Amino acid sequence: MKCRKCGEKAVINMRQHKLALCREHYLAWLPEQVERFIEKYKMFTHTEKVLMAVSGGKDSLGLWHILKTLGYNAEGLYIGLGIDGGAGYSDESRALSEAFAKEHGLILHVVDIEQKYGATIPELAVISNRGQGKPCSVCGLNKRYLFNRVALEGNFDVIVTGHNLDDEVAVLMQNTFNWAGGYLARQAPVLPGGAGLARKAKPLCRIYEREMTAYCLLQGIEYIYAECPHAEGSTTIYYKEVLNQMETDRPGTKLQYYVSFLEAKKAGLFASVEDKAVLHPCDRCGQPTSAPGECAWCRMWDRVRLVKTTVPVSPESVSLL
Ligand code: SF4
Ligand SMILES: [Zn+2]
Ligand SMILES: [Zn+2]
Repeated sequence: MKCRKCGEKAVINMRQHKLALCREHYLAWLPEQVERFIEKYKMFTHTEKVLMAVSGGKDSLGLWHILKTLGYNAEGLYIGLGIDGGAGYSDESRALSEAFAKEHGLILHVVDIEQKYGATIPELAVISNRGQGKPCSVCGLNKRYLFNRVALEGNFDVIVTGHNLDDEVAVLMQNTFNWAGGYLARQAPVLPGGAGLARKAKPLCRIYEREMTAYCLLQGIEYIYAECPHAEGSTTIYYKEVLNQMETDRPGTKLQYYVSFLEAKKAGLFASVEDKAVLHPCDRCGQPTSAPGECAWCRMWDRVRLVKTTVPVSPESVSLL
């Protein structure tokens, strides 16, 4: 297989794009694609301050590398979840994120939940009994809350995450099977900010997972291979497997599914179920919440404090940056 641009030996064949490229042309092509989508969906500009959500995985480290290559002003935020899984998942992902930032001269902010607030995510899940003791619900709540707070405290214009096309179509499939109108209306490459919420963008929303793996390997980026141990058996992973089978049989299925969804949305298919919830500032921490009073994050830590005295009396006043 030869590179379509120069005729040298190709290192990747992307059947979905009918495109094979050599190392040099692939490493130029992928950042160009990402920049195209950043501009197309009006995610952010070169003069804005970007907060990159870094997990130590290939998508976030690869994207951070691409943003730097493209000249964007992106600082990282790593959230320490205290997840061990027998193999030190959080320790390893933090060490790889810190090593990457150091090697590339990038600023990485670290918020370790246990150090700041006195309990790990798995402990929180058991004590608060949110999500029937499974950690994903409290994990999601804390990540959303902390990213937004750091973005506002640090005057960032936008939060960027490494969700790739495979992630987006797996969620899309789940939402379509459940006809979850509200979620479908909210699924987008970019979510505008306002009312105390920072803008959120997903520059990899049209990039295949396999394309990110290839980018990291060819760039020599070291990332954590293991998935979070709590992701095992999730419905998202099941949908990813189903979609991989469809993609093998018909290359381009995932991209077609996602792009058609965005077109349908643009044509107003989900307009009637668009989220029109009014947000209020939390009485304690000031972060936006859908119901007046205290937000779910403040209430959750209050409950945990009854059991764990290491939790500060006013977690909302602990400074993050
Ligand atoms: S799979 Fe792991 S990282 Fe993802 S939400 Fe669940 S606990 Fe958090
Ligand atoms: Zn080439
Ligand atoms: Zn609050």
